[in-house]
Amino acid sequence: MKMTCNICGNGKFVRMNARKAVRCSKCSSLERTRLMALFIQKFDLVNENSKILHIAPEKGLADYLYGIAKEGCCFADLFPANYPFAKGIQKLDLCQDLDAIPDHTYDLIIHSHVLEHLPCNYTYVLYHMHRILKESGRIICSIPVIHGFYDCCSSPELTDERRKERFGQNDHIRKFGRDDLNMTLGKVYNLGEYDVTTIFSKEELLTYNIPENCWKYYTPGSVLCLSKTDYLLA
Ligand SMILES: [Zn+2]
Repeated sequence: MKMTCNICGNGKFVRMNARKAVRCSKCSSLERTRLMALFIQKFDLVNENSKILHIAPEKGLADYLYGIAKEGCCFADLFPANYPFAKGIQKLDLCQDLDAIPDHTYDLIIHSHVLEHLPCNYTYVLYHMHRILKESGRIICSIPVIHGFYDCCSSPELTDERRKERFGQNDHIRKFGRDDLNMTLGKVYNLGEYDVTTIFSKEELLTYNIPENCWKYYTPGSVLCLSKTDYLLA
């Protein structure tokens, strides 16, 4: 089957560490980035009037969104200098700055592999994301879920080696574990079983190079598309 990047249209994919042929050679999208884009495309979530908050923006997806919503895109990160490609990128500290954003500001909020880096209470951040989302809005996010149970440590004294052992990466503050996901993220969002084949056909997923190991069960590549009613703490 001929595989195509649904973000930029390219047909060539290259290796990302141990994962063969998953990174788009043109826009650098990964499996999870293309799956986020697939939700946006399937449910028609972006148009020229959309107000979008794209946190820690991926280049290919940022270019794609800007091409449709132009100035409606707000690109933001704690370290904006790392994202020179994102037009108008702003500094945003998710642990400090969300309070200042008015209710019902955005149609779409996107974040991928962000929550595990935050040194504050993640439920606080998810509360504000819910609050600043419009009634008809969506949150599209990828939150890495790995084996075992939830674990968290914000102490600066924890060494990089210990962080890697406990959380999977030397700059992670926490990990979400599959074994107690219902007691952590599952208390904030209505999660249910993870199975994207109930939403997209297998042909669609394979065509856009979203491999079978991302289809079922919560994994580091899982993508959630959440509406206001999926938030359980309102
Ligand atoms: Zn691409």
